[in-house]
Amino acid sequence: MAILLASLALLARPTLAQQILRDAETEAFMADMSGPLVKAAGMEPRNVQVLVINDPEINAFVAGGQYVWVHSGLIAQADNVNQVQGVVAHELGHIEGGHIIRSAEGIKEATGITLLSLVLGAAAMAAGGAEAGMGIMGAGQQAAMGKFLAFSRAQESSADLAGARYLSKAGISGKGSLEFFKKLQNLEYRLAIPQDDSYGRTHPLSGERINVLREVYTVDPAWDKPVDPQLEARFERIKAKLIGFVSEPNQTLRKYPESDQTIPAHYARAYAWHKSAYPQKALAEADALLAAVPHDPYFLELKGQILLESGKPADAIAPLREAVKLTNQPLIATLLGHALIATEDDANFAEAEQVLRNAVARDRENPFAWYQLGVVYERHGDTARAALATAERYSMMGQDAMAMRSADAAMQGLKPGTVDYLRAQDIAMVSRAAVEQQRKKR
Ligand SMILES: [Zn+2]
Repeated sequence: MAILLASLALLARPTLAQQILRDAETEAFMADMSGPLVKAAGMEPRNVQVLVINDPEINAFVAGGQYVWVHSGLIAQADNVNQVQGVVAHELGHIEGGHIIRSAEGIKEATGITLLSLVLGAAAMAAGGAEAGMGIMGAGQQAAMGKFLAFSRAQESSADLAGARYLSKAGISGKGSLEFFKKLQNLEYRLAIPQDDSYGRTHPLSGERINVLREVYTVDPAWDKPVDPQLEARFERIKAKLIGFVSEPNQTLRKYPESDQTIPAHYARAYAWHKSAYPQKALAEADALLAAVPHDPYFLELKGQILLESGKPADAIAPLREAVKLTNQPLIATLLGHALIATEDDANFAEAEQVLRNAVARDRENPFAWYQLGVVYERHGDTARAALATAERYSMMGQDAMAMRSADAAMQGLKPGTVDYLRAQDIAMVSRAAVEQQRKKR
């Protein structure tokens, strides 16, 4: 209830740029939870990403091609993973139906805004660097999204039925979907959430829709199939983590009081204490988690993050190193690279370089890792490759003129024909073309 009231208060605020929450554990969970549905929809799981946006409103939407965005508020309010799966199935129905494209004029513009501010947020992240564990990036603005989110009732029904087909094909019960829709309806009645700001507006709800879905779901063989307990446990973890990360610490502590000694509660409180600058209390929660599951990579990541961000980078290295070894996850590797560099110890720079190069090879869309890599090269006096890392970062952020200049500078110092030289040449060429095009537009 506390969270609900808070989200209502936030609703009254003017439009803010939204932020994408990037977190290794959350992204792995989202991929596993939605994978069977994506396959059932006839799409490739590696082409469809389900990402979390920092927004207390209960909403989800599709934008920018095959992306499903889920608000942190929706996850916080969902009672189980099955409810989230119901929402994701429905959103995939909008993708398959091509509803975004058909209902949106100027879709390109709107998508552009999304991608552009994604990158602006990343720039802030690279500059601040404080949120290394859960990288924060801005996404498009509510206003931009509103443009192409008004689905017609016919589109809603078709997405409902498509979603029901995916759930059935994946052998997942429609119970969660039904529960969640009913929950939304109740919330709207009871709290009079303004229609123009809720899921109800972007996905008009009606009793009729719910009745149709109930008829389809209840006769499906998967209707009585229970939720996979392991997936449910993972959901409770990422839900607690998100609540701890986005909520005011006192709200988190009310929802997950000290008397609650479950894993999700330790997780949520670790973030709450860390956010309120009580590193000892945050560490105690992380240690409680590690006592329960000593080699859990995400608990190790959490411990490393708390140590790094409370000014103990040398202590952060061991847990982060183990977490990277266990997952080979680029976001965690970036955190390890950050810790190694933050020790200011030259002995750690070779490992930092190797870890960060490995991270950007697997997740190029990581401006913060490029930023760190530039720092390492600069330290070595390797100005050419520092310029190349800067070119990568600017190119990702859509700053074409800067990317072009840095790539040109990199080519001056690199040996022609090497992989790095060719990469610099590519960036120079692409960004030069973009700069020319912008010039013509003017
Ligand atoms: Zn919809």
